[in-house]
Amino acid sequence: MKKLKDSIFQQLSKVADQLNLETYVIGGYVRDLYLERPSKDIDVVTIGSGIELAKAVADSLKPTPRVNYFKNFGTAMLKYKDLEIEFVGARKESYQRNSRKPVVEDGTLQDDQNRRDFTINALAISLNQEHFGELLDPFNGIDDLEKGIIRTPLDPDITFSDDPLRMMRAIRFATQLSFEIEPATLQSITANKDRIKIVSAERIIDEVNKIMMASKPSVGFKLLEETGILAIIFPELQAMKGTDVVNGIGHKDNFYHTLEVLDRIVPNTNNLWLRWSALLHDIAKPPTKKFVEGLGWTFHAHNFVGVKMIPKIFRRMKLPLNEKMKYVQKMVQLHMRPIVLSEDIVTDSAVRRLLFEAGDDIDDLMTLCEADITSKNEAKVKRYMKNFKVVRQKLKEIEEKDAVRNFQPPVSGELIMETFGLEPCREVGLIKDAIKDAILDGDIHNNYEEAFQFMLTKAKELGLKPVT
Ligand code: ATP
Repeated sequence: MKKLKDSIFQQLSKVADQLNLETYVIGGYVRDLYLERPSKDIDVVTIGSGIELAKAVADSLKPTPRVNYFKNFGTAMLKYKDLEIEFVGARKESYQRNSRKPVVEDGTLQDDQNRRDFTINALAISLNQEHFGELLDPFNGIDDLEKGIIRTPLDPDITFSDDPLRMMRAIRFATQLSFEIEPATLQSITANKDRIKIVSAERIIDEVNKIMMASKPSVGFKLLEETGILAIIFPELQAMKGTDVVNGIGHKDNFYHTLEVLDRIVPNTNNLWLRWSALLHDIAKPPTKKFVEGLGWTFHAHNFVGVKMIPKIFRRMKLPLNEKMKYVQKMVQLHMRPIVLSEDIVTDSAVRRLLFEAGDDIDDLMTLCEADITSKNEAKVKRYMKNFKVVRQKLKEIEEKDAVRNFQPPVSGELIMETFGLEPCREVGLIKDAIKDAILDGDIHNNYEEAFQFMLTKAKELGLKPVT
């Protein structure tokens, strides 16, 4: 039996007794208490009005927290210290076949536990003084917690059909907690997979992102694939699975390769968008795949095609279309550059160009590229890693010397126009580009004096004279 340690529970207990309301803490908080995962979200269920209880609890606390009421749902929420406490009256839900909205009535604790998604999420602990701390576990959730099992409390076909998002939640919890989905529950997900189509993209992406942030996201994506859900919600990723053989030559399975890259990047970043970059770096391999006689399998320009695919994927999945998407596009576009660089002699000029294009995201790009080396050939991996070290070292040296990471032209377009008495025209652009290239190629240093002299030479070639 686990103890409710936070003093807030004594306070909840006192107020519930004063109002004579049977009250419990339920769901995720209780599950996490047993799993020893610290949690700040407390769900309180009462047999009666959650709103009335929330108001009385708030009035009893110093300083009095503000309560947010959601009258339509009969719920209320308050924040106290670092806790977020949600209050709800116990309810009974019944779903009609032809409607997604359940009929909701007041109910008992058992009714409320029945409408929960999994046995491990249906645990409740009594808060009233008489039974304070007593666990109510009608579906043997503790047993499942100990065994590491995700199972629905009722017939899984009913639970999943009532709210198909629960299929995604099952896979998400299995991924986050390293639990197994019990066979009948898993089978039912496969059988009900098509019902995911009625769930909003916003609810789905929340779960996908939680899978992405887990310590081994591949677990979730493999389950999504095996159950057939992936093909519905993310056909581009599904298309990466499998391998073709022509003339006895195959290529690697890009689905499993991608998942390996994703798992490999996890320990090195908590940035969701870098993880998305790992998931999408090869997304255009299926549409660019071609077998070329004498050459084998090619995926020509898959990085550029990938960049073009991303807005459509982000729009459909309700991911942000702002600078976060642009960052992912940049990573996908550049993901082959450091490796090409490391295969060659690492010239200053190539490093400077990479720095110029990647800007402040250069370190993230290197992290992605290192994760991308998944070869089974150890000697090859060693060689790449060694070369990457050289690239990283060179990046540091060049950045210290030339500062091209956030390149600002040392000679502006205005100065060029002023010097030669020009209106905006093609020549201005030509001179600007020539200066930039000369700096990136290492012909001149990144400073005003050298750039100005270079500008004069270049202008002369174009037949321009300075106005005096
Ligand atoms: P996390 O905070 O990691 O998302 P959680 O279990 O606390 O996990 P919430 O979404 O906050 O997740 O839900 C709180 C509780 O509400 C759950 O533990 C579960 O009992 C119940 N619940 C949430 N969503 C559903 C659902 N779609 N169907 C049934 N019960 C649900």
